[in-house]
Amino acid sequence: MSEAENLDESGELRDFIRNIIVEDLAERRTESLVTRFPPEPNGYLHIGHAKSICLNFGVAEEFDGRCNLRFDDTNPAKEEQEYIDAIEADVKWLGYSWNGEPRYASDYFEQLYTWAELLISEGKAYVDDLTADEMREYRGTLTEPGRNSPHRDRTMEENLDLFRRMRSGEFSNGERVLRAKIDMASGNINLRDPVLYRIMHESHPRTGDAWCIYPTYDFAHGQSDAIEGVTHSLCTLEFEDHRPLYDWLIENLPVPSRPRQYEFSRLNLSYNVLSKRRLIQLVEEGHVNGWDDPRMPTISGLRRRGVPPEALRDFARRIGVTKSDSVVETQLLDHCMRELLNRTAVRRMAVLNPLKVVIENYPEGESEELEAVNNPEDEGAGSRMVPFSRELWIERDDFMEDPPRKFFRLAPGREVRLRYAYFITCHDVVKDANGEIVELRCTYDPATKGGNAPDGRKVKATMHWVSVPHAVEAEVRQYEHLFATEEPGASGDYLDDINQESFNVLTGCMLEPALAAAPVGGTLQFERLGYYCADPDGTPERPVFNRTVGLRDTWAKVQRQQAAAKKG
Ligand code: ATP
Ligand code: MG
Repeated sequence: MSEAENLDESGELRDFIRNIIVEDLAERRTESLVTRFPPEPNGYLHIGHAKSICLNFGVAEEFDGRCNLRFDDTNPAKEEQEYIDAIEADVKWLGYSWNGEPRYASDYFEQLYTWAELLISEGKAYVDDLTADEMREYRGTLTEPGRNSPHRDRTMEENLDLFRRMRSGEFSNGERVLRAKIDMASGNINLRDPVLYRIMHESHPRTGDAWCIYPTYDFAHGQSDAIEGVTHSLCTLEFEDHRPLYDWLIENLPVPSRPRQYEFSRLNLSYNVLSKRRLIQLVEEGHVNGWDDPRMPTISGLRRRGVPPEALRDFARRIGVTKSDSVVETQLLDHCMRELLNRTAVRRMAVLNPLKVVIENYPEGESEELEAVNNPEDEGAGSRMVPFSRELWIERDDFMEDPPRKFFRLAPGREVRLRYAYFITCHDVVKDANGEIVELRCTYDPATKGGNAPDGRKVKATMHWVSVPHAVEAEVRQYEHLFATEEPGASGDYLDDINQESFNVLTGCMLEPALAAAPVGGTLQFERLGYYCADPDGTPERPVFNRTVGLRDTWAKVQRQQAAAKKG
C-alpha cells in the first residue's frame, strides 16, 4: 500500500470517512465533529484497536472536534476494572487524550431503561419467554423468514409488568428477555425482533448490584452515542448489518441527537491473531507470559517490546481506512518501527555472544575513553565516551578461524577496525581442552585511533566491541513472531501454529557501561544487531533487554513479491 494513496494534494490524510466528515462539515450537517472510541473492558487493547483509536481520535484532532472514551460495559460477566485501567493507559500512551472524563455505557443505564419502558408503552417492545434455543429456532435463517414468538402479542400492561419484575430480580438468568418488536420476516436478521435486555444476576464493576438486567450492545450503543452528541459513530464492518437497527432505535426514541454509524474494515495482521477471545486464551493457558508479553499484538505488548507510539500511529496512517477486508503484512509494522528508530534511536554497543580478545601490545591495567557518536542520523544526539582496554569482548560470529572467501571479518592474520577505536590484527587463537575457541590474541595499531590509518590502508570490516573490565552483563530476549504461519489457524487449530522458537533468552551478554542506565521503554540500537529496549524485569546491576526489531528491512521485498504475484 503506498502512502500517497491516503493523502490529498496538500498532504492531508484522506479516506472515505474523512471525505464524509469534510462534506458534513462543509454542508453544515455537522456543527462540530464528535467521535468516540468504545472499547468493551473485557481484555487488553490490541493493534486493531490502535487502528480504531488513531481513526477516532485522529479525525477529532484534524477537524477540531472531540473524541470521547466510552467503555461499553454492558456485559458484567466478562468485564473487569483491570481492563479499564489498562485501556486508559494504552490510549494515553498512544498520545491521545479524550474529551472530559471517561464515559461508561453504564452511566446511561437508567436512561436506557426509561427508553425501554417507552418502547413497551408504544407497542414497540415486548417481553419474551422463549428459551435461547427456541429463539434461535424462531429466528429463521438467511433464506427463511422467522416466526413470531407466541408471546409477541402480550398487552402493553403485561409487558410493562413483566419488564419491571425482570428488573426487580424476580426471574433467573435467561428466563425472559425484552425484544424490540420490528419484523420477524425482515431480510435483515438483526431486525427480527432483536433482544434489548437480558437477565444477568451478576455484579457490575461500576453499578455493583443495582441491576440484574443489562442492555445489549445494540440497545446501548447508538443511544449512548446520541446522549453524548456523537456525530460520527465509526465501527468495524461486522456492524454494517446492525446499522438498520441502530437507525431504527434512534428514530423510535426521543434521543437528544442524531448520530450516524459508518463502518470500516478491521485490521488483520499477518503472523498474528487479533481477536480478544484468542488473546485471552493465549494469556490464560500460559502460551505467552501475560498480556504484555512482547510477542503479543496488544498495545501493552508492543510497548514492552519497545515499539514507539509514533511508529504505531505511522502504521495506522499508512494502512489507511477502507471498506475492503485485507491482511496487512507484519513487515510493514516492522518497517514503520525501523524508519522511526533509525532517525531517533541512539546507538550503543552490545555483544550478545561474547568472545574475548586480548590486545597484547596494550598496557595491562590501563584504559582510555574513546568518543562514539550517538546517532549518525541525528547530530543533535551528540556523543558519549566509551572505555577501551587491553581485554575486549567481540561477537563470536565476527571471527572465523578458517574463513570462506566472502567472510571479511576477523580471522587469523587479518586486520579489522573496531568501531570508534583502532585497527586490530589477530595473531593467535586460544582453545580449551574441547577445542573450543576461548580467546583471540591480537595487537592494535595506536596510530589508527578513531578508526583511520594515517598511511591510508584499508580494512574490510568494522566491528563492535565492549571492554571486558567495564562491561555490564545482561540478559537479552530475542523475540520472533509468536506464530510460525502467516495466517494462524488457516489449516486447523491456531494454537498448533504457535512458533515454538519465538522466545529465545541469551544470558551473559556484554554491554557498554552506558546501557546500565538505559530507561525502561527507551528503545535504542545495538550497533549492527537491531533495536532493543530495557525491560522492567531488569535491574541496574543486571539489565534485561528485549529485541524490538532487527535491522534488516524486508518490507520492500514483501512488496516486490506481492507485485509479482499480482502480475503473474
Ligand atoms: P475483538 O473482536 O478483538 O474481541 P471487539 O470488537 O469485540 O474486539 P471492542 O472492545 O468492542 O472489541 O472494540 C472497540 C472498538 O475497536 C470497536 O469500535 C471495534 O470495532 C474496534 N476494533 C476492534 N478490533 C479491531 C480491529 N481488528 N481493527 C479495527 N478496529 C477494531
Ligand atoms: Mg465488541
